[in-house]
Amino acid sequence: MNQKIDIEFPHFISVDIKREDLIHPFISGNKFRKLKYNLVQAKKENQDTLITFGGAYSNHIAAAAYAGKEYGFKTIGVIRGDELESKVLENPTLKFAKECGMQFEFVTREEYRHKTEVFFLENLKQKYGDFYLVPEGGTNEFAVKGCEEILTKEDSKYDFVCTAVGTGGTISGIINSSLPHQKVLGFPALKGDFLNDEIRKFAHKDNWELITDYHFGGYGKVSSELIEFINQFYVVNQVPLDPIYTGKMVFGVMDLINKNYFPEYSKILLIHTGGLQGIKGMNINLKNKHLPIINIDV
Ligand SMILES: *Cc1c(COP(=O)(O)O)cnc(C)c1O
Repeated sequence: MNQKIDIEFPHFISVDIKREDLIHPFISGNKFRKLKYNLVQAKKENQDTLITFGGAYSNHIAAAAYAGKEYGFKTIGVIRGDELESKVLENPTLKFAKECGMQFEFVTREEYRHKTEVFFLENLKQKYGDFYLVPEGGTNEFAVKGCEEILTKEDSKYDFVCTAVGTGGTISGIINSSLPHQKVLGFPALKGDFLNDEIRKFAHKDNWELITDYHFGGYGKVSSELIEFINQFYVVNQVPLDPIYTGKMVFGVMDLINKNYFPEYSKILLIHTGGLQGIKGMNINLKNKHLPIINIDV
């Protein structure tokens, strides 16, 4: 569903937001798209266990745990940070995943860096038997195929399609199903310049660009200005944004509109990739630091 952002923008610009956050109550937004064909493939391969990876507040871990429960897979989550083992119940994401039946394998940050190497995966096989591996963030060819279903025929009227970027799978799918007159803008939620190459692995077109000015210091980092923007955007538009991805992207697009980045009469589509489950965990951290929190009930 595309929802109009009812703000009067300069230069006759119009902005709609595609509410992918509403496509499933627990397998949120792009994580639903990214898991879909991976689950089909896992069934095809007769696997009954999914193994995947993520950090303490990972939307992907929450989505994979719920998807496993709903579609009959055992799920194992390899979690970055061995200090989290004793804190599962204090962490809303891990608590949710556990309640869905996910088993955790907590590893140090050092071990986590080696998680795709043969010896690490062999160890997991020894422990859990055969499994279907869903990569960190869920990005692979099946994920990209699922994300090609985000844009539909009705979206051909837009000139710009804007999305948050983590590992690059989502934007790759969007690029593949975009039309030649459209430009796809990606807003990385983290620092680093490996993303262009990642996206080129999966995307077959050149009508895209990464806007790298809106990561707010890096992955999971926020400022009070960003939190205030998210709160204000919710009051004005009743659209909840998450602090890790969609909040930064929408902040960026609004800023670019004010800086006259977009031509007159541009029709802009924002992709709401979900991620709202991360608000609870972020608020716990903000409270501990005595910073303003996100005033959205999720
Ligand atoms: C995971 C996630 C992204 C990033 O998707 P990638 O395919 O990894 O680039 C964007 N938005 C939200 C809300 C996410 O949870």
